[in-house]
Amino acid sequence: MVEVRLENLKKYFDNGRVKAVDGVNLTIKDGEFLVLLGPSGCGKTTTLRMIAGLETPTSGRIWFGDKDVTYLPPKDRNISMVFQSYAVWPHMTVYDNIAFPLKIKKYPKEEIDKKVKWAAELLQIGELLDRYPAQLSGGQRQRVAVARAIVVEPNVLLMDEPLSNLDAKLRVAMRAEIKKLQTKLKVTTIYVTHDQVEAMTMGDRIAVMNRGKLLQVGPPTEVYLKPNSIFVATFIGAPEMNLLEVTVKETGDSIVLEGEGFEIPLPSDFKELLGKYIDKTVIFGIRPEHMTIEGVSSLEHVKRSAILEGIVDFIEALGTDTIVHANIGSGNIIKVKLPGHIPLEVGSKVKIVVDLDNIHVFDKNTEKAII
Ligand code: ATP
Repeated sequence: MVEVRLENLKKYFDNGRVKAVDGVNLTIKDGEFLVLLGPSGCGKTTTLRMIAGLETPTSGRIWFGDKDVTYLPPKDRNISMVFQSYAVWPHMTVYDNIAFPLKIKKYPKEEIDKKVKWAAELLQIGELLDRYPAQLSGGQRQRVAVARAIVVEPNVLLMDEPLSNLDAKLRVAMRAEIKKLQTKLKVTTIYVTHDQVEAMTMGDRIAVMNRGKLLQVGPPTEVYLKPNSIFVATFIGAPEMNLLEVTVKETGDSIVLEGEGFEIPLPSDFKELLGKYIDKTVIFGIRPEHMTIEGVSSLEHVKRSAILEGIVDFIEALGTDTIVHANIGSGNIIKVKLPGHIPLEVGSKVKIVVDLDNIHVFDKNTEKAII
């Protein structure tokens, strides 16, 4: 196992017209499960392929521990990669698929046998060793691909959207299994996904990418609770964070966020944080789950709150949760997520309780977080 360090890593295509990866600095700790998260085309796969040695960087360095591997061929890196498409060989049995990387490394037969059985047991496919991939389900095929990846006991395990081809239920089950397996093996793992739930549930840390750049790196709860930009704030969380344009106003000792048709008074300690923005327009953000509706459900842990008056515009009853869309003035719709079934009617008046310890304020121009 090793620490992986990316130093100002860049990959440009088409004579520099496409900046797929644009100056990424990132250290993945020894034994860590790091998730690279971002929308399609943000450069996740290209980053992973450079770590694997399948793509040569335009500039920058890749270190495995104190070894510079930037230009080392894949076979000399002791990495394994698992792809979305499984990439198991159809003409080989499960046993031979898993044994393949060991055969290439010319391991003795008995050792191959021992290791194949070890990996197959870990992935719970010990019963399937004589089958061919065509005789397996998608989930089982992906288990074979993961077994083949870990059988060589790689320094670094690279996974590129490995669960995307599985149905929703299986994906949830495999998520937990891969995470448990990684915890057991303690192999440094870099896992690419555009699925924020996968990232939140699997990663020790999440690295959020957009347009070839890293925007934020941190433990899941930190990225969720303290997003550093509008992009990160809205990419993580469902339904996404409510964003409203407001003007920061000073009233005596405290601050009020004034929007079109609504106001949010803030306690005095916000004055210091927003002092530079008095009379300026900023973006106010609040997650749907950090609000409640008076008389409907309580947020007992809420210490400081503000009230927004609204009219119920639409209700999404999800069974486990209810998403209430409320018009808080001038057509501004805010989504509130409440646990369970909420018996509210469209058109009824509601008082929305905003948890002031979970609000966000972003600079309108830079889109970076102020609070
Ligand atoms: P996805 O989730 O859709 O796989 P991604 O985040 O993994 O996306 P990449 O595959 O790394 O994104 O691609 C990043 C950018 O680089 C995209 O704009 C893509 O079109 C471009 N790109 C990738 N490979 C090449 C290539 N070989 N030649 C030209 N452009 C490329």
